[in-house]
Amino acid sequence: MGDSMYADIQKNGAADVSAVNDTNGEGCYDPNFELFLEAEDVAITTGRVRVESSHPGFSGGGYLVGIESDEDTVTFNVTVPGSGFYDLNFISASYNGYKENNVYVNGVFAGVAKVEGTNFQDSILKRVYLNAGKNEIKMTKGWGWIRLDALKITASPSIDENIYKVSAQLVDPYATDRAKKLMQFLVDMYGKYIISGQYSDKGINGPEFKVIYSITGKYPAILGLDFIDYTPSRVAHGTKSKAVEYAIEFDKLGGIVTFCWHWNAPEPYLYDTSENPWCSGFYTRATNINLGAIMDGKDPQGYELLLRDIDEIAKQLKRLQEADVPVLWRPLHEASGGWFWWGASGPDAYIKLYRLLFDRLTKVHGIHNLIWVWNGQHPDWYPGDEYVDIIGMDIYPGERVYSPHTSKFFEMTEWPVAKKIIALTENGCLFDPDLAFRDGAVWSYFGTWSGDFVSSDYTLSEKYTERYMFEKVYNHEKVITLDELPDLRNYGK
Ligand code: CA
Repeated sequence: MGDSMYADIQKNGAADVSAVNDTNGEGCYDPNFELFLEAEDVAITTGRVRVESSHPGFSGGGYLVGIESDEDTVTFNVTVPGSGFYDLNFISASYNGYKENNVYVNGVFAGVAKVEGTNFQDSILKRVYLNAGKNEIKMTKGWGWIRLDALKITASPSIDENIYKVSAQLVDPYATDRAKKLMQFLVDMYGKYIISGQYSDKGINGPEFKVIYSITGKYPAILGLDFIDYTPSRVAHGTKSKAVEYAIEFDKLGGIVTFCWHWNAPEPYLYDTSENPWCSGFYTRATNINLGAIMDGKDPQGYELLLRDIDEIAKQLKRLQEADVPVLWRPLHEASGGWFWWGASGPDAYIKLYRLLFDRLTKVHGIHNLIWVWNGQHPDWYPGDEYVDIIGMDIYPGERVYSPHTSKFFEMTEWPVAKKIIALTENGCLFDPDLAFRDGAVWSYFGTWSGDFVSSDYTLSEKYTERYMFEKVYNHEKVITLDELPDLRNYGK
């Protein structure tokens, strides 16, 4: 791809998604289509799945229970008049608390159906592609423990054609020229191209990049790195990192860098046992740090230690700024999952910490080479449009699942008030770009995690993604690789 193509894209403005609102020609897609199926009447079940009717609020003659282990499945065979997108509403009730279960359509993972609370309620998986004629919709156990009343299928509303029209204005008003140029590039590509990314602790010469290049003849456009081993409680144990050097090297080669930070809790909070050693200190299970207490002023020493750690990472970000390297900066990731300590005290404490980090880096340390990627993974954890440039989601759907996670993508478009770029900031499997464009779920970029998601001893690991899919993705005309990036230093000139 030459620079002229980018110029055309900039000239032509935002993405044209009207194509994905069409009916795709097969059958007769009815935008008013609606189908209501009582689970207890029509579903085919296996394992322990059975009908009950004691929990009030259901429709029809009852509901299904017994989705408890892998052999317990519920299958609906449905016929729709035309190929296209449908919302699948698994009307259900939880036994208690939040539950999610897996949905497969014609054998392909389509997403999870979620319920929270014991009343029968809507649980809508949006924009699932069904073929004209027969389709198999199957629910399998994710967490299990729901009462499934009915499946309601409706034609999906048309995509809001403005979802890809996002502002290139960064939340840091003093953002560097290079950060602004990178954001402009991301905005210009958004909805039209997907930018390839790959985590590798050793940079472009790491096994992941070597393996991808040997198979596809291409390098990922984005290198993903981690500040983990710059964290004081790890440095105290002798860790060393070259992540900043790898980032500067990759930038010189014309690539884009992203950083996360597995923030090892400060030393006084580490259990450091054989089960939970010091090096696992970013996990909630390995530390007794109480972020809620710290952010409420009840642990001033802890607050000072958090500032100390932020200031250490600021030094590394400063080195990148001095080298004029813009960074897709994704701190405090996967918070709502609770498995990392910054997510273990709930959203209020997390949001306070996120804002503290933002203010300390930008205002105290004068770090302005960052594009802020929020990765809290749940709307309750959103710190606000004024702190976020990009919304990221990490998805590990299992092995050899190439779904573009369409339903999740569209759910995320509703989280910010302003429109933001949406990216798949970590993935286990690659997703099929053809399906992403078919569904109109065009993630800005992806970032496959390191290790056996790609390589095993410098050879390809096909455990999560098979060779043919690596070849397809990295040679896809709508997927941008390192060689296809424009000169980002002079982008837009
Ligand atoms: Ca029912």
